[in-house]
Parts: sequence; C-alpha cells; structure tokens
Amino acid sequence: MKYIDEFRDGDLARQIGARIAAEAHPDRSYSFMEFCGGHTHAISRYGVLELLPPNVRMIHGPGCPVCVLPIGRIDLAIRLALERGAIVCTYGDTMRVPASDSLSLIKAKARGGDIRMVYSAADAMAIARANPQREVVFFAIGFETTTPPTALAIRDAAREGLANFSVLCCHVLTPSAITHILESPEVRQLGTVPIDGFIGPAHVSIVIGSAPYDHFAEEYRKPVVIAGFEPLDVMQAILMLVRQVNEGRAHVENEFTRAVTPEGNLKAQALVSEVFELRPSFEWRGLGEVPYSALKIRESFAAFDAERRFDLNYTPVADNKACECGAILRGVKKPTDCKIFGTVCTPENPVGSCMVSSEGACAAHYTYGRFRDIPIVVTTATEEATP
Ligand code: SF4
Repeated sequence: MKYIDEFRDGDLARQIGARIAAEAHPDRSYSFMEFCGGHTHAISRYGVLELLPPNVRMIHGPGCPVCVLPIGRIDLAIRLALERGAIVCTYGDTMRVPASDSLSLIKAKARGGDIRMVYSAADAMAIARANPQREVVFFAIGFETTTPPTALAIRDAAREGLANFSVLCCHVLTPSAITHILESPEVRQLGTVPIDGFIGPAHVSIVIGSAPYDHFAEEYRKPVVIAGFEPLDVMQAILMLVRQVNEGRAHVENEFTRAVTPEGNLKAQALVSEVFELRPSFEWRGLGEVPYSALKIRESFAAFDAERRFDLNYTPVADNKACECGAILRGVKKPTDCKIFGTVCTPENPVGSCMVSSEGACAAHYTYGRFRDIPIVVTTATEEATP
C-alpha cells in the first residue's frame, strides 16, 4: 500500500541502521527521546532498537495521551457517572486507565455508571440528542491531534443549543511538555536523563506545524526531527539527529514532509483558539504540574464546560506505589525496571496507565519487546487488517 509498504522495508531499514552505526562517533553516546507514544509503539513493534549501535539510546517520552492522564482527572469522570447520574462518553483506552479505589471507567460501568465508549466527540453529541432528559459529558483527552474535533463539537453544540451536552476537557499540549522535561526544577528533582535531541510528534505536528518547536530548539540547543510513525521514518529521524549532534547544530528538521508543513493546519488552529484557552497549570502523570500545558474551555462556551456545570474541583491523587509510570514517562526508567511488569501488571490487568494503550511504553514492550531476537518485520497492509 502506498506510503505504508515502502516505509516498512527491512533492507532499507538495515541500510539506514548501518549508516547510523558508521556516523555515530564511537567515543560518545547519543540519547534521543521519542516524545510520542506512536513512535514508542513503532520502535518496539518493528525492532528498531536492534538496528541501532549500542551508543545510540532511545528514551520513551510522555507523549501517550492516556499515560499522562492523572488519576484525579479520571476520578472526576467516574464521579460524574456514579454520583451525578451523567452519561459519560470517552475513547476506548481511557475506559481502562486505573483510577482511585481500584476503579477505572470500565469498572465503574460494571457498578452501574452509564459510561459509554465512543469513537468521536460527534458520537457523544448524538447520544446527547437521543437522551435529552439526561446530562451527557464527553470526557475529552489527548494532544493537539484530538483537540480540533472536540472544539468542533462544542461550537456545534452551542449553535444547535444542545443544552444537555458538556465536555470535561483534559486536552494537553506538546511543546510545553517538552520544555518542561528539560527545564523544570520539579522534573529535575524527580529525576531525569540527559537528552541530546528529540523525535518530534507526527500527527500533532500535522495540526500545529513544525514552527512551534523552533523557539525550543534555539533556546535549549536541542535538535528536533519531526518524524512519521513508520519504522523507516523513525530510522531516518535518528540518522538526522545523529548528524545534527555531530555537527553541533540544534535545528528543527522535518522528516515527515509528506504530511507536516511549517505552519500546520491553520483552520484547525483557528477553531481550537476560538473555543479553548490556556490553563495556567495542569497536572501530568509523571511530570507533575506543568505550566500552560493544557487547554480549558473559554468563557464564551462556559455552558458546555462540565467543570463549571457540575462545579467540579480537581484533587491530585498519588499513583500506585508499585507503579513506575512516572519515572518511565520522564525517561528515567524502562518498563522492565518495574517489579510488577508482565506479572501483576499486564495489558489485560493494567496497574498503571503505561500498560493500557498500545502507545504506552509498558504495553508496547510487553507486546513486542520481550522477544528481542525478532528482526525488523515487514508487514503488508493485508496482514495489518488480519485480526
Ligand atoms: S508495568 Fe504496570 S505498574 Fe509497572 S510501570 Fe508499567 S504500567 Fe506501571
């Protein structure tokens, strides 16, 4: 399939791997963070690490939307369903993220909460139209990729006068999280790792463009290469990062030219800024409070803001003591450093958020990383479609 098969070519991947090994100086090490869970998934699934020399290290970043969602936010959604009688709608992975009192949204559903999995904010609006006597809340999570559809739903609900529909907004922003990883005293105190450069997000950058990373690369002298989610995209991005480090450059480069432009999707950006504004601070799992790293609904759309409508107050909740998700999301630890990885904690029974989504570092490593001798896999679109 066009844009799939040619980006999964094992021979080409090995050739790029050989180039990386030839160009990486043997007397130094290179540590690159792949911010996005999509890249983490590709690295694990296609055995990218097997093709890198030992002095080129990849560090998982916090770019998996359900992984960074703190327990306190899921608790808010659960309480809306169990205590306030609302129909709570959200994406599939969010249903399984562990919350307080051994609950998750899916377990709260088993306790009688009317919690429904949807594929989009528009699905949640349809449920609101079909249930005019009930409050329907869309629990909106995700990075800049999923924010425009939520903005569209809120704007449409306002135009339509869909009075029983509201949004619990937990949308977060990528550039501020990357900055926070590098500069915040809190993260330094919690522990972090030296990073020589970043693989920038794919889908997020389609929306926001490559320009928002310019300031970051200049200010912190860290190269960023925006890359697609196929294995050859990732390999090529690593080669581009190695070259930048060798040449002492810190620029934003775009490997994903087939989809990302410097300015991004201006229509989507305008829609988002019409409906949302910056939150002064937002808690991320693993990173703590990150200033200006999330969005809230503007005053002009306050009627559709579940936090205001239900007078919700956020309370932070500590993670399970056995879970190392926080350290993994900061790049300090690997999934296998967690004592309960693959035993007590599995994708069927996740204890922490990193084991829930296929983009989570623990789930990706559990599914693919345990079989280290498997070489890069060339999968066809037909094989992909086979369950
Ligand atoms: S294996 Fe489970 S408990 Fe351990 S860090 Fe990963 S998600 Fe958390």
